[in-house]
Amino acid sequence: MKGLPAAALGSRPPHRREAPGRIAKAPLGERLQDAKTVTRIRLLIDLSGTVGSEAWDRLPHFGEVLGGWFSPEEGSSGPCQHDQESPHLPGEWCGAVIEVENHLLAEYAVAHYLVLPRVLDAFVDERGA
Ligand SMILES: [Zn+2]
Repeated sequence: MKGLPAAALGSRPPHRREAPGRIAKAPLGERLQDAKTVTRIRLLIDLSGTVGSEAWDRLPHFGEVLGGWFSPEEGSSGPCQHDQESPHLPGEWCGAVIEVENHLLAEYAVAHYLVLPRVLDAFVDERGA
């Protein structure tokens, strides 16, 4: 008596079925579910020498972001001590949030942002969305 042919093992559902967030071409229902469980990345952006939201506007973003925003409500060095048309002073920074589909993408995104000169810090927000 022979055991099961090796090919029988291949008939099991692929491993990725158990991790819906990793499926690139998931059915619509699964994608919607993913959208409810986005993973957030927090960024601290160096504003010194830029005007207004220039540092954020020019940031080369990670390719698979779902969305994001830039706001002192996400943390900042404090209100500007200069007029709005003048460049930000050395040491000024502002927080931002980026949303991606899942934790794996978030780790790739953090690696992407950490090497950008304007990004002082980037980390996955473990509290979730
Ligand atoms: Zn400023």
